[in-house]
Amino acid sequence: MKGLVIAIDGYSATGKSSTAKLVAEKLGYTCINSGAMYRAVTFFLLQNKIPIDQAHPEFQAALEAIRIDLRPNPVTGEMIVFLNGENVDAAIRGMDVNAKVSEVAAISAVRDRMVRIQRAIGQEGGVVMDGRDIGTVVFPSADVKIFLTARMDVRVNRRMLQLLKREEVPNQDDVRDNLIHRDHIDTTRADSPLRKAEDAVEIDTSDTTFEDQVAQILDLVRQKEISKA
Ligand code: C5P
Repeated sequence: MKGLVIAIDGYSATGKSSTAKLVAEKLGYTCINSGAMYRAVTFFLLQNKIPIDQAHPEFQAALEAIRIDLRPNPVTGEMIVFLNGENVDAAIRGMDVNAKVSEVAAISAVRDRMVRIQRAIGQEGGVVMDGRDIGTVVFPSADVKIFLTARMDVRVNRRMLQLLKREEVPNQDDVRDNLIHRDHIDTTRADSPLRKAEDAVEIDTSDTTFEDQVAQILDLVRQKEISKA
């Protein structure tokens, strides 16, 4: 066993990815942003104008053709997503993908493939994985499970800042509507809906500093390491 499996789930724009990244860095673990995989599939479908309909032959053929893999950035060591051999990590973060990703992620055929890849990466341990179903479905026996929440106004501001960094000029109402829309699809889908695992620790990130929320998680990791030793 290389280390623990740490699952960080929660709603969009609650700080999951940045938290997971720093926790992994502090522990020397691999950080996997599982949402990037669903985003890459969505990006492919949009780019190739393929209907988001699992019964459609073009959709089925696309799913067969898509190759998703994660490779470390040679400079930062951070895992980035490659779609059919191409680095799409930046391209998958725009509003076009935001608008459709939850619809794509609700499709079981897509989830089955992504979960298989996620389990293969995490099975050895030493991994921090963020997503929606990591503590409930992908790794139900994860060593540490975190569920992040935040008030809607805080989430909207965070997502606005991320989009501005990409030089997109987001409209606040569109960003809020998109978060509400994705929350709805993510929590009500039949396959692996977003919910807090019973044994997850919930952290509301609205008013905590980023450093504090990372420190809280590292504390839980240390406690787990001691109890397993
Ligand atoms: O984490 P991020 O916001 O990038 O995820 C994008 C979308 O991918 C989510 O809104 C959700 O629909 C889907 N997702 C999922 N399961 C995961 C990770 C992400 O369904 N484990």
